[in-house]
Amino acid sequence: MPDSGHSCIKVAVSACLLGEHVRYDGGHKHDPNITEMMGISFSLVPFCPEVECGLSIPRETMRLEGDPAAPRLMTIQTPDDKTEQMLTYCSKKVRELEAENISAFIFKERSPSCALNAAPLYESKSCAESTRGLFAGEVVRYFPFMPVEEAEPLNNSEIREEFINRVADYYEKGKVF
Ligand code: SF4
Repeated sequence: MPDSGHSCIKVAVSACLLGEHVRYDGGHKHDPNITEMMGISFSLVPFCPEVECGLSIPRETMRLEGDPAAPRLMTIQTPDDKTEQMLTYCSKKVRELEAENISAFIFKERSPSCALNAAPLYESKSCAESTRGLFAGEVVRYFPFMPVEEAEPLNNSEIREEFINRVADYYEKGKVF
């Protein structure tokens, strides 16, 4: 069982998982497991790369395209390249979150911005493989030792408990590894 002893520890979370209406269609992807189980253990700090980089709600759907090592973030209908807009936001946002003493990240899966493990990557019209979302990629580069996880695996109590322990450990060690 998680306890409430780490409520001073800040964990950054994709805002749609917390019920904020920030998705492309104005909806959310509230995950009660995150708000209830993680929310009693940590202070949850929302972020939404797509809205915070200046895109609207609602907005055109986007996807990652091209080179897996340097994918482009493209709107699907127009199409319009939002990569530089997003990367500029990413490098500024990680510094802001560092100043806020964030100790972990929880990401929404399959998003071209937030996915940690498997954002679909398109080549022409077909999905060729998968990669990291652009913001998740910048987080992992900037904070190589910080605990990071997607929301879905945290439904598993063992994975969740292990993640909570890693976050507390990271916080207590003052990020010195
Ligand atoms: S997945 Fe990330 S970018 Fe997409 S709505 Fe949620 S927080 Fe915003």
